[in-house]
Amino acid sequence: MSLPPFEYLAPGSTAELAGLLAAHRERCRILAGGTDLVNWMAEKIYRPDYVIDLRKLPLAAITYEKGRGLTIGAAATIESLERSPVIREFYYALVQAAGQIGSPQIRAMATIGGNCCNASPCADMPPPLITLEARVALTSARGSREVPLEEFITGNRQTAIAPDEFLECVRVPDPWPHSACRYSPFGLRAAQEIDIASVAVNVALDPATGLFAKARIAMGAVAPFAMRALKAEASLVGNAPSGETIDQAALVCSRECRPIDDLRASASYRRHIVGVLARRMLRDAVAAITS
Ligand SMILES: Cc1cc2nc3c(=O)[nH]c(=O)nc-3n(C[C@H](O)[C@H](O)[C@H](O)COP(=O)(O)OP(=O)(O)OC[C@H]3O[C@@H](n4cnc5c(N)ncnc54)[C@H](O)[C@@H]3O)c2cc1C
Repeated sequence: MSLPPFEYLAPGSTAELAGLLAAHRERCRILAGGTDLVNWMAEKIYRPDYVIDLRKLPLAAITYEKGRGLTIGAAATIESLERSPVIREFYYALVQAAGQIGSPQIRAMATIGGNCCNASPCADMPPPLITLEARVALTSARGSREVPLEEFITGNRQTAIAPDEFLECVRVPDPWPHSACRYSPFGLRAAQEIDIASVAVNVALDPATGLFAKARIAMGAVAPFAMRALKAEASLVGNAPSGETIDQAALVCSRECRPIDDLRASASYRRHIVGVLARRMLRDAVAAITS
């Protein structure tokens, strides 16, 4: 595998990184774990003049503070998410997603920032992050801004990031009271597989009435980017978490998604799988709250 020629840059501070991005803009690419970028460069899809490595920067911390929520540095590896006790306790769907990515070797290199910025329709982290109302912090020499992840990913491998910006961290608010989140992908093999569909759910029950108080559902690999199942979410809120309500919401999910036929699965099979996953994840989430 040969890569096109490039100059390797390794800034020692985020201010230096911002300066390099401002200077080189479209002529550079950020290197985090390299598990996507190196392949794109080997296939000559990207031919950056400059590759800017994040590894010397303090961007890998995972912190949680009640009231402020979770902050995941862009360079935090998928493995570190999977092993984080606080993520396991409060944001279990993220552990489920991280544990499904690639292989142990890939998870040791791949980062959350790379997974969001690569913006593959089949990426595993965006669906659960979207149900958890995650926002991304985008920084440049001009300053910082925060964007909801569901607005950041705008299409198949397209994002709202500007050429002089880098993704600094992902912020996730505190979990809703009386809530649980769950995620499941489905592929044709157990590992090293590209999902043919995935579903993430985050639901809260009203402790007084036992009815669904809040619901977010996101579906992966069945549209150009992870999409919310807005009608299915609305069908849950205000209703009892019964098998009937959940079955109806799962059916709505399978109608709302926008899959395509391709080599790995037909659109109709993907719709069927979305319904199955949505039913399972909603049941699991409700059981986690009520047990
Ligand atoms: C064998 C294999 C299996 C895989 N399996 C899965 C899987 O099951 N599920 C899944 O979701 N993905 C999978 N992937 C894809 C990949 O591992 C993930 O998308 C990974 O999270 C990318 O992170 P990275 O740090 O390696 O990104 P990189 O390859 O370093 O970067 C990816 C893109 O994001 C940009 N970028 C990275 N960080 C930043 C930042 N902080 N700010 C701005 N831009 C940035 C880069 O410039 C590049 O365009 C697999 C890849 C391989 C090779």
